[in-house]
Amino acid sequence: MSIPSVIRYLIILAVTLVTGCASVTSNKSAKLQFNDSLSSTAQRSRVELIVLHYTASNSISSKLTLTQKDVSAHYLVTDDDPPIVYRIVPESQSAWHAGDSSWYGRTYLNSSSIGIEVVHPGWVRNTNGNAGIPYPREQINVVTKLVQDIAARHKVPPENIVGHSDIAPSRKQDPGPAFPWKELAQSGLGRWFDENKAIQLEGEFKKKGVPDTKWFQAQLKRVGYNVPENGQLDSSTKAVIAAFQQHYRPSQVSGLPDAETAARLSALPTTGTNFR
Ligand SMILES: [Zn+2]
Repeated sequence: MSIPSVIRYLIILAVTLVTGCASVTSNKSAKLQFNDSLSSTAQRSRVELIVLHYTASNSISSKLTLTQKDVSAHYLVTDDDPPIVYRIVPESQSAWHAGDSSWYGRTYLNSSSIGIEVVHPGWVRNTNGNAGIPYPREQINVVTKLVQDIAARHKVPPENIVGHSDIAPSRKQDPGPAFPWKELAQSGLGRWFDENKAIQLEGEFKKKGVPDTKWFQAQLKRVGYNVPENGQLDSSTKAVIAAFQQHYRPSQVSGLPDAETAARLSALPTTGTNFR
């Protein structure tokens, strides 16, 4: 190859490389186009549960915790008069409110739930288990409207409107025994047991004797709780019984099996609610 030929070759090579680079650059910078003309019928909202919490702190400190720390919730309902509903995390995002949790065998519920924090001082357990500090009327009215709105938009079934204690019984006690679950269920939000059936069953259990731990474990599992199935009244099982009592028999949260707890558990539908 003569010297001019070498120069011509190098010029052609340089032009080719520059042109090549230019075309790659232009492809990279081109805006990605989407075609939205197709839509599948096989889809649903990512939101399958609504989880209620109490903050166990006042409004100022709750706002700080839920915005500045490694915990969050989609909504915060204050105890102001009238209560304020803060939208802290968009519903399309996961909030860090459920933690290690389980319901009907599903785990890591942050990604499939909406979390609502309600400003409330919390509940200090005593030996009898009491109803705790009542939630203000106005606050409950607002919480009910909020749950109604979320449940309707995402088609959340009654059995999936739960407390933090239901999905993490060994770690959590919120929203506590003062939370008015029965009232919510009467508004079609959340699950409740057949009260007539429970009264009848309680009489029967008192006569025949309280069922054994294995029965309680199987029944608690049937209604969604993550509970051991070892027949032992161990600390995990007691925590789950206490979570059930907190939700459905708040007058006495003992964590121990008894006839009334067995009756209410037995009269609770696996899904849905008796108020619908
Ligand atoms: Zn909580």
